[in-house]
Amino acid sequence: MTVEDFDVVVAGGGPGGSTVATLVAMQGHRVLLLEKEVFPRYQIGESLLPATVHGVCRMLGISDELAAAGFPIKRGGTFRWGARPEPWTFHFGISAKMAGSTSHAYQVERAVFDDMLLKNAKRKGVVVREGCSVNDVVEDGERVVGARYTDPDGNEREVSARFVIDASGNKSRLYTKVGGSRNYSEFFRSLALFGYFEGGKRLPAPVSGNILSVAFDNGWFWYIPLSDTLTSVGAVVRREDADRIQGDREKALDSLIAECPMISDYLSNATRVTTGRYGELRVRKDYSYQQESYWRPGMVLVGDAACFVDPVFSSGVHLATYSALLAARSINSVLDGDLDEKTALNEFESRYRREYGVFYEFLVSFYQMNVNEESYFWQAKKVTQNQSTDIESFVELIGGVSSGETALTAADRIAANSAEFAAAVDKMAAGDGDDMVPMFKSTVVQQAMQEAGQVQMKALLGDDAEPEPPLFPGGLVTSADGMKWLPHHPV
Ligand code: FAD
Repeated sequence: MTVEDFDVVVAGGGPGGSTVATLVAMQGHRVLLLEKEVFPRYQIGESLLPATVHGVCRMLGISDELAAAGFPIKRGGTFRWGARPEPWTFHFGISAKMAGSTSHAYQVERAVFDDMLLKNAKRKGVVVREGCSVNDVVEDGERVVGARYTDPDGNEREVSARFVIDASGNKSRLYTKVGGSRNYSEFFRSLALFGYFEGGKRLPAPVSGNILSVAFDNGWFWYIPLSDTLTSVGAVVRREDADRIQGDREKALDSLIAECPMISDYLSNATRVTTGRYGELRVRKDYSYQQESYWRPGMVLVGDAACFVDPVFSSGVHLATYSALLAARSINSVLDGDLDEKTALNEFESRYRREYGVFYEFLVSFYQMNVNEESYFWQAKKVTQNQSTDIESFVELIGGVSSGETALTAADRIAANSAEFAAAVDKMAAGDGDDMVPMFKSTVVQQAMQEAGQVQMKALLGDDAEPEPPLFPGGLVTSADGMKWLPHHPV
């Protein structure tokens, strides 16, 4: 068998895989991307955050193409969430770091968005092979030195590389090769049932492109406008309801919609799509986890292959593209001989884990706003001492940071954050607040937005961006073009 050689082999062509592949190829390295499906293919995860659109996509050179694609503009989120019966809205624009022309994201049909990223990867020099499933890695002692895959004709092939990146999402088993275990979150152990509707109502302008998230007794719904008429609708419910839901999905979704007055009203004149890409009612479960290690010599995990928190607040594609950017900086630095692998990939892992941790804690606090003793779903979201240990281990690297009080337990921090969100919503609704600013001033939200803001700044301003301090004492800083790491030399 002939063994081809590349600098980097990427398994998976979702947002994580195409981003890392493109950013490494843009530095002149030889990159092969192997994707199991033939694009365009379906994927869930349609609501984006501004850091992906104005940060990573700008670095990839597809901002204009994205803006011209006609995706609905997402200015923020509208929630029927917490004690207040009326829906409330936050805007991205109120975060100082995301003001002006970068204060929005898009709602995207992932088949279209992911295809756009993959085509861009090809244009930027990545060798892309679709219909190729990566089955295993090739090892030499401790090191991963290549990958084995099946090509579209069914032939087994092998490729050698300095780095193999697993960006194959949550379903492939390749991640096991990095070592350690995949730790599932008990707190976010839910199940999502979702489908698509034509003709659903829209929020009033200017927030008609917002994601709408509506809590009800047995869980919550997302309602995402994908065009003027097409809407993605999903219910997140108890994992224990799996049997009932898997049995007759149509009946299960209908009865969940009936339990939620706002979604029932929004869908009152809508019809469910029953053919084509959006015709199926799909179920996802066991999606909340993080891998014990994110890399080993010669192998790196990005995106869902490494971790995912929860559908609420649209962090999945952000974590996938942000981790891809971090991985690309590390790999570019090693391939150019600037840094040793351990230093570069430890920076990748620390930053990635921190970002996962801040979102994890933010989302737990957000769920906590809805705790309702009458409901099994929401009662399970009440943070007890027991869960507090679980949460602590999920946010291990940032424990205490979000409150600025290292002595507080996770349960105390979460209670404080939740109370702060609830007070902000009340203040705004009472008309004496400055829009939703107080909510975004909460420390946990600022933590969650900090890196996103840095990525956007760097992408927008390039060399003109202010030098940033290392995120961790003694850690690395980003190069002026954002493509590599540099040692930090304080002036
Ligand atoms: P993927 O998008 O899964 O891409 C992985 C690719 O690898 C796929 O194309 C697959 O075909 C390919 N592949 C798989 N196995 C192999 C193999 N062996 N060899 C080669 N290729 C392979 N995120 C958001 O940002 N917003 C949302 O609104 C949102 N909603 C969500 C709702 C639910 C219910 C769930 C479960 C998730 C949601 N997410 C959301 C998360 C989002 O779906 C993921 O975080 C995101 O798709 C991860 O991107 P990725 O590139 O890591 O993986």
